[in-house]
Amino acid sequence: MKKIQEEVVIGIDLGGSAIRLSTVTKRGRIINPRRIGIAGRRYKDHILTSIIYNVLDIKSLENTRRNKVVAVGIGSPGIIDFSKGTIISSPNFPDWKDVPLRSLLERSLDLPVTLENDANAAAFGEKWKGAGRGVNSLICMTMGTGIGGGIILNGNIWHGAHGMGGEVGHMTVNPEGPLCNCGNNGCLEAYSSATGMVRSAVESINGGKRTILIKLSGGDNNKITAKMIHEAALQGDSVSINILTEAGKYLGIAIASLMHILNPEMIVLTGAVTGAWDFFMPAAKKEVEKRAYKAMVEKTKIVPGMLIDSAGIVGAAGLAMKQLGLLKL
Ligand SMILES: [Zn+2]
Repeated sequence: MKKIQEEVVIGIDLGGSAIRLSTVTKRGRIINPRRIGIAGRRYKDHILTSIIYNVLDIKSLENTRRNKVVAVGIGSPGIIDFSKGTIISSPNFPDWKDVPLRSLLERSLDLPVTLENDANAAAFGEKWKGAGRGVNSLICMTMGTGIGGGIILNGNIWHGAHGMGGEVGHMTVNPEGPLCNCGNNGCLEAYSSATGMVRSAVESINGGKRTILIKLSGGDNNKITAKMIHEAALQGDSVSINILTEAGKYLGIAIASLMHILNPEMIVLTGAVTGAWDFFMPAAKKEVEKRAYKAMVEKTKIVPGMLIDSAGIVGAAGLAMKQLGLLKL
């Protein structure tokens, strides 16, 4: 018996070090994910060619499985003009200025393309198939190299008036704080991202603090990573435990503000940094309890993401399905 043709979508997560793509079914299942490394080759033409080649390849493969690719959803870092489908600028791709990604891809692929910011796509992924299932308002914070955010209100992504909403990582949590990548001082990202934690570690070492991070990094401060700080904390290193506690404290300050402003049902925390949950979360919760209205603290769930590193792909695909009317959320 021949399989009935199923409509599927290709979800793409465009990251700074890799393009990740996968077929995604209408139920949100991921099939045959691919990862194409782009480190050192982040220029526009190379990335576009890689995306086009792989999407067309997946499309013909799915055809042989009697699946019909009906759209492409892509999550990209950077500032996006959603009405035009243009990437205005992106921190990961310095040579990208006003790139009409959606029309370029639609022309080459002969498929409708939905373009979304990567953090927003991850938020939608968690809402559709992850920790936020059945939840109508949530804030998803992606804690990795930086801190991205996606806000979902009444089931829809809140883009803001100019497409720049949800930048939770650049909330000021300490006006006198350290310099952030954005040029401001004391952003949440400057404390609670992987980059922020590494900066704190280097400061501690330069200040003469005793820590096993020196040994773990072979005495080279450039080799310190957030993962290393977590490992050191697991071994009882007090400097590393303090860094993670401080990251948690500032995260809690930010969460309390977000709760006061938007009163969401749920805060979802995702990204590599959440691996150190047990070290930063008690401090974050303590700070939220101290600052937010008691009724809010009791009612708002703060949970880890469930889709790990596939939230962006699933979310981008889900948004493309929603656009086509294949997904009612
Ligand atoms: Zn900032």
